[in-house]
Amino acid sequence: MPELPVCPYCAAPLIKAPQRKTKCSSCGQTIHVKRTVENRDKRLMTDAQANAAEVAWSRYHAINQVRQDLSAFGMGDDPMIGLLDLGMGDPHEIEERLLLVASEIAEPPRLRLLALKILAMRRKPTI
Ligand SMILES: [Zn+2]
Repeated sequence: MPELPVCPYCAAPLIKAPQRKTKCSSCGQTIHVKRTVENRDKRLMTDAQANAAEVAWSRYHAINQVRQDLSAFGMGDDPMIGLLDLGMGDPHEIEERLLLVASEIAEPPRLRLLALKILAMRRKPTI
């Protein structure tokens, strides 16, 4: 049996399950509706939980991007990316390190040039 929706702050029962961000009519706090990386079911969250979920999603997408970028160099399964999956290390730092490796050893040589180009792009300051 599904649980009745309650406010994640004050636990007041909600008339209906919010489908999007809304304010609790009891405590006035903003209730977020989000999925997390670990649990893809939409759930009601506090501001802090929603922020934590956003951070986790950013990391998740960054790791996927790293894996995808590096697969072009045959490094999509590098153990360093496995460390990222375990929550260790910074995705951008590890991508740079692996691109540096690729820029020296990738075959054919045009991939080395590509790795250097991507590195140069990554290092451009972002606005
Ligand atoms: Zn409330």
